[in-house]
Amino acid sequence: MTFSNLKLIKPLITALDKMGYSVPTPIQEQSIPHLLEGRDIFGCAQTGTGKTAAFALPILQLLETKKDPTARRTIKALVLAPTRELALQISDNFKMYSHNLSLSHTTIFGGVSQNLQVRDLRKGVDILIATPGRLLDLINQGFIKLNDVEFFVLDEADRMLDMGFINDMKKVIAKLPAKRQTMFFSATVSPDIMKLANTILKNPVSVSVTPVSSTATLVSQSVYYVKKENKRSLLTYVLKDGKIEHALVFTRTKRGADKVAKDLNSHGIKAEAIHGNKSQNARERALKGFKNRTIRILVATDIASRGINVDKLSHVINYEIPEQAETYVHRIGRTGRAGSSGIALSFCTQDEMPYLKDINKLIKKNIDVVKTHPYNS
Ligand code: AMP
Repeated sequence: MTFSNLKLIKPLITALDKMGYSVPTPIQEQSIPHLLEGRDIFGCAQTGTGKTAAFALPILQLLETKKDPTARRTIKALVLAPTRELALQISDNFKMYSHNLSLSHTTIFGGVSQNLQVRDLRKGVDILIATPGRLLDLINQGFIKLNDVEFFVLDEADRMLDMGFINDMKKVIAKLPAKRQTMFFSATVSPDIMKLANTILKNPVSVSVTPVSSTATLVSQSVYYVKKENKRSLLTYVLKDGKIEHALVFTRTKRGADKVAKDLNSHGIKAEAIHGNKSQNARERALKGFKNRTIRILVATDIASRGINVDKLSHVINYEIPEQAETYVHRIGRTGRAGSSGIALSFCTQDEMPYLKDINKLIKKNIDVVKTHPYNS
C-alpha cells in the first residue's frame, strides 16, 4: 500500500516523500479513502499512530481541489485540540503536508497574548487549529466566525473531557454549520465519549487502531527495583551510560519534575522540566531544545507530555510508576512511534508494586526486571 493508492494528489505525495513517509500507517490506510469521500469518522487512536496525517491529508486535499482562488479566505476547517502543545504539533503537521499547496492555516491557544493570533486571523485563514478556551474568547470578541466551516476535527476527545472542556466544546459545536464533515478522535472509548460522538457525528465510519494494551509490545521494557531515596542516583547512573542519547523522563508531580531536572543538571546532564506551571515560552523553548538535541533529557508530567511528539525518541524513563496502567502505555507510546523501536525503563519502589502489577496485567506480560544495578532493592 502506498499513498498514491489512497488517491492522494501529487503535491501531497511529494511532501510526504520529502518527509520520508513511504507507507501509510494503518489508521491512514483505513481513514483516508472514507474521508476523501466525505464520510464522518469515529477514530479510536492515540498519538503515535499517525492519526494527524489521517485527518490532515484529506482535509488539505478536499480544500485544495475545490478552492476558488478569487474568493476571500474564510475558515473552512476547524481542528479542536485540548492542549497548546498538541495544537502546535498539529499545526506543524499541516505546515509540512501543505508545503506545495496554497492553503493557509493558523493556530490559537491561551496563555499568550492574542495580538499576533488576531493579526493572523485578520489576514484570512483556511484552516484553524485551536484550543477551546481561546477559540471561544476570540469568537466572543468577534474575531472568528465559524459559519463557513466544512470540516471539523475533534482531537483527543477523551482528554478534552478529562480536562473539563465539555461545556466549551458544546458551545463551539453549537456555532458550527449543521452541514459539515466531522472527524472525531479519542484514545479511549467510554460511555461519555460515545454520547458526545453520537451527538456530533452522522453515520460515521469507525476506525480503531492499536488498542491501548497492544502498543506496548513494540517497545522493549524493563523495570528497576529501587528504594525511593535512591531513585535520583539510579537515574544518574542509568544516564551515565552514553547509549541513552535522548530520553523523556516522567514524574508524577510538577515539583518532582523540577527536582529531577535540577539534580540531573547538577550532575552535568543537561535536562529541562516541562509542566503546566511553566510559561508557554519556557515550555516551547524546552521542547525545541529537546527536539534539536541541545537538551538531552526532558522531564515531564503526564499532562504536559500529551502532544510531545519527538521523532526517533529512543528512551522513555518512568521515574515514577503511574497509578493508572493506561498512563504507562501512553507514556511508553512516546517512543517506538510509527513502527520504530523504542526502550522504556521504569523505576519501581516497594510502594509502587501494586501499580506495576496492574500494568503487567494490562499489557499481558511481566516486564523484565534488571537486577544488575548498584541500587537494587
Ligand atoms: P501522530 O500519531 O499523528 O502524532 O504521528 C506520530 C508520528 O508518526 C509523527 O512523528 C509523524 O510525523 C509520524 N508519521 C505519521 N505518518 C507516518 C507515515 N506514514 N510514515 C512514517 N511516519 C509517519
